[in-house]
Amino acid sequence: MAGNFHSVKCPDCENEQVVFGKASTEVACAVCGHVLVRPTGGAAEIEGEVLDTVERRA
Ligand SMILES: [Zn+2]
Repeated sequence: MAGNFHSVKCPDCENEQVVFGKASTEVACAVCGHVLVRPTGGAAEIEGEVLDTVERRA
């Protein structure tokens, strides 16, 4: 099953990071450690501004 990748801007330090839209674990900002993605069992909850979405085709 294909998932989406999102380019997310950290609300704390403005670092841009690419995260998987269905992450099963928390994803923290590589710079400041702010949690950018929280798993919810389905589509992950994304904190911060989504700058871009890339649809991945299998
Ligand atoms: Zn950050």
